[in-house]
Amino acid sequence: MSREFVDRLTPRDRALFEGLSPAEALAVFGYLFPQGTGARLPLRMRSRAIALYDPLCDRRRYGLGLLWQASPYTCCDHGCAYCYGRSYLLRFGGGGRPKPGFLRAFSRDLEDMHRLGVPRRHLSMANSSDVLQARLEREHRLALALFEELVSNRALFGSFGILTKNPGVLFDDERYVAALLALDAEVQVSICFFGDETAARLERGAPPPSERRAASERLAAAGVRVVLRLDPLFPRGVDGCPDVQTIDGDLRPLLQWAATLPVEYVITSPMKLPIRRNRVEDFHRSLVGAFPIVRGFYRRMEPDARDRLVADVRAIGSALGLRVEHCLASILKRHPGGSVSSRH
Ligand code: SF4
Repeated sequence: MSREFVDRLTPRDRALFEGLSPAEALAVFGYLFPQGTGARLPLRMRSRAIALYDPLCDRRRYGLGLLWQASPYTCCDHGCAYCYGRSYLLRFGGGGRPKPGFLRAFSRDLEDMHRLGVPRRHLSMANSSDVLQARLEREHRLALALFEELVSNRALFGSFGILTKNPGVLFDDERYVAALLALDAEVQVSICFFGDETAARLERGAPPPSERRAASERLAAAGVRVVLRLDPLFPRGVDGCPDVQTIDGDLRPLLQWAATLPVEYVITSPMKLPIRRNRVEDFHRSLVGAFPIVRGFYRRMEPDARDRLVADVRAIGSALGLRVEHCLASILKRHPGGSVSSRH
């Protein structure tokens, strides 16, 4: 790789280019960074409709490498009390909204990827939003347009993943499922409570888990690849903190249901508690005692407590014949050579 452009990047951004051939690196640099000599150094990434997956991630530490993300919407109507997007999206509390000019920018980015020869990688839809949130998608149908445009540009990407709490929208129009099948897309359905009552308190704007399960069953029956995203795992057994999620009330019945579907596999991860901005104060206060470690913009559980939560899900899943992956390991495998050099 030419040192010329590497020297114009921050050390953090340089890590993005590890493992790319010189031609791939030049294509990615041309796509993600401003060109010409007038830009201020170090160079900052351009805003793109098809953007780098998790641009804030320090790729020197977590070998995420090159992965893409795209969403026609920003923020989210589902209003989950535990949402991480609350901490870094200024207007999260106002609910979801379309990104102005998204489809035009999306088409332009596809053309740029073609023209530059950007290497094929996984495309994730979406983080910190939900491409299938009902109010927005029923009014704008931008996710449907996005899926159909991707079908026409299938060769640009290695694989496709959708993360949603509202798979039911996919049955509004048969074109959704047709596009997902053409893309061989993986639909990760996010469900962390089995019963509808707890979800009604902590995921107020999202469809109840019973609806998500019913839609997942229809998707699997239609041949779509369905994954259970049992995420996040809440702390359990901590003095002074309620067990909002339990093994017998949530985790075991969810995994039993997933095994009968069957889902392709299960993704899980322990919860972090965002520290700043848009907090749901009573939720935060009730659980803060379980998160003694402060790092970055989050409070975290003790490593042993986190490991125990994941081990419980693995043990139940494995007895049911389910593969259980930690969410970080799951996204790392999308990147050739992806690795993690320290504990998450
Ligand atoms: S569905 Fe996801 S993005 Fe939307 S509020 Fe819940 S956690 Fe946040």
